[in-house]
Amino acid sequence: MGEFELIRQYFMPLARLHGSHCVVVGPGDDCAVQRVPSGSDLVFSIDTLVEGVHFPLNYRPDYLAWRALAVAASDLAAMGADPSCFTLALTLPEVNESWLRDFARGLGNAAESFGLGLAGGDTTRGPLTLSVQVHGLVEQGSAICRSGAMPGDLIVVSGALGDAGAALEYLDAQPPTADEQFVLEQYHQPQPRLKLGVALRHLATAAIDVSDGLLADLNHILEASSVGASIERTRIPISPALTRLKGSAATEYALHAGDDYELCATIPEASWENAPQLLKQQFTVIGVIEPTPGLRLDGTAVMSESAAVGFDHFRR
Ligand code: ADP
Ligand code: MG
Repeated sequence: MGEFELIRQYFMPLARLHGSHCVVVGPGDDCAVQRVPSGSDLVFSIDTLVEGVHFPLNYRPDYLAWRALAVAASDLAAMGADPSCFTLALTLPEVNESWLRDFARGLGNAAESFGLGLAGGDTTRGPLTLSVQVHGLVEQGSAICRSGAMPGDLIVVSGALGDAGAALEYLDAQPPTADEQFVLEQYHQPQPRLKLGVALRHLATAAIDVSDGLLADLNHILEASSVGASIERTRIPISPALTRLKGSAATEYALHAGDDYELCATIPEASWENAPQLLKQQFTVIGVIEPTPGLRLDGTAVMSESAAVGFDHFRR
């Protein structure tokens, strides 16, 4: 099977999925064309996943496809953008049709679920690597940046943290227990918080998605906004499954482990008080932004050189 037959058979069909209404020219030409409505800003980001670095060797292709699109889409969520379309650069060691079929199925499910149409891509031979570029739209000037947090703002996080990080210990469980299975699902099929991101527009002063660990990612907001923060350990949302698996250590996973793809945002107190109940139920208040730089956990400074560093490819 040649490169073009492969693209035609496995990837072209995904172009017709939900979300592609903004794609005026899809896969098959030299470029894709996206129509950007007047009054909108185009928000875009690219993420690369390398086998053995970002996902295990011989990882299930449907999970891989889902994760690749989910981690990219999560960045759109953090900016409060409506998802529109994506491109995929795929490097494969060989053409394995059953692998490709499963990969395309996982990608199609994710594309449908996140509302992202496939607009084009690139297919090459080499060590298994994926780059996904996602496009989203916001009303002009309303993208939520990391730099807008103000002293007094409440710090909120969506969902529960730490599950995906703990799941790394159970990847080979045969068979996993129900609690192990629960955290494994958070790792294999993360749900980018796209609807919550859009709901935070005009409400949050800053936001980030938790990809490298809460402390590390919150620290990015603090640095970009030139502020500090105090958060409380007992307020960090933890799933019942993680509590049962890890007991009192569960909070450490929530603070330091990555791969959760929940949102962390800062919201002025008055806006939070007046926010729709439905939105408030999706977030937990974990602390407050302060004028004094630095991050404090239960009153103790978190050393930015240790706890707040998170995962960094070039510091090992
Ligand atoms: P060019 O040489 O002009 O860059 P390519 O040969 O790389 O074009 O790709 C041909 C067409 O197939 C392009 O429209 C491209 O967007 C599409 N394409 C290539 N790989 C993929 C893929 N993995 N998924 C979706 N579309 C793809
Ligand atoms: Mg060309």
